[in-house]
Amino acid sequence: MFKGILIEKDESGYRAAIKDMDEAQLPDGNVTVRVSHSTLNYKDGLAITGKGPVVRKFPMVPGIDLVGTVEESTHPEYKAGDSVLLNGWGVGETHWGGLAQKARVNGDWLIPLPAKFSPQQAMAIGTAGYTAMLCVLALVHHGVKPTDGEILVTGAAGGVGSVALAILSRLGYPAVAVTGRPQDADYLKSLGAVEVLERSLFSSPGKPLGKERWSGAVDVAGSHVLANVCATTKYRGVVTACGLAAGMDFPSSVAPFILRGVTLAGIDSVMCPRVDRLQAWQRLETDLDIEKLEEISRVVGLSEAIPLASSLLKGEIRGRVIVDVNQ
Ligand code: NDP
Repeated sequence: MFKGILIEKDESGYRAAIKDMDEAQLPDGNVTVRVSHSTLNYKDGLAITGKGPVVRKFPMVPGIDLVGTVEESTHPEYKAGDSVLLNGWGVGETHWGGLAQKARVNGDWLIPLPAKFSPQQAMAIGTAGYTAMLCVLALVHHGVKPTDGEILVTGAAGGVGSVALAILSRLGYPAVAVTGRPQDADYLKSLGAVEVLERSLFSSPGKPLGKERWSGAVDVAGSHVLANVCATTKYRGVVTACGLAAGMDFPSSVAPFILRGVTLAGIDSVMCPRVDRLQAWQRLETDLDIEKLEEISRVVGLSEAIPLASSLLKGEIRGRVIVDVNQ
């Protein structure tokens, strides 16, 4: 038997609770993992609360991230005792995920735990941090250099935003943080923000083009925020879009793209090819100051993860939440 969060949906409603489960209930897969830690990402918040259509099959164990030790494997690359990491691939959405003490998955979805990180540190990064790295790599691949000017990071006090600030500052990019929590300005500056701007400057409908300021951006918000970021990005700048914290819509015009040659780069972590995710995790080992992970994250037990899911969706959680599934 093992413990985990189980989401059920039936005539009596949608609910998430800690349950004792049997290994025989685990889904098919060629690697069984003894999970040590998972995390709470925005998507896990949607899954646990039912506020977004994240879970596609019921009952479901949520948790889009996990780290742990291989218990049994028939996959050629993994054997019992290996430390492994998983982000995405529909885990926690269509296949039982990481917010439980055991998981059974397709070994192709796993990567070896990067040597530099403890299980807890890998989950302090989690999907949010790995997505932040994908955003920064997209800026780099599109030719944005630290000397080109300021990079804007929206939702800066959240998971993706906090890790993006830490990576950008380590690489020498001047990063400007946008937040709805100006009281957290000291936190954002300690992660490397050179300036902190109020979210309200970006959240209302704006003009198709504004004064050019950003050489690049990491946007987790979407909606008017993303439209205003594009409208104020400099000639040939690059905006990476990974999130929808403000909304799914994108009420923009083509003006930034056809008059200023701005590039809008979409970022997806879930189905990201293995070679790119391995590169992102390798770059996290070199481009993220490991000491900042302590400041960004806190550890909670499985039972705390359920109430924290609603707080996360309300934007009340700073940085990252690591879930110790054995606590
Ligand atoms: P968090 O909840 O940790 O952070 C989101 C942050 O967005 C909040 O902390 C808040 O930051 C800001 N925010 C909240 N509400 C609004 C709003 N109405 N308008 C503008 N900003 C707002 O989530 P994550 O960092 O884990 O994820 C951020 C987004 O990125 C989510 O939409 C998530 O689904 C998406 N995502 C996408 C991935 C992909 O593969 N494409 C992977 C990972 C995440 P502040 O208080 O500082 O303003």
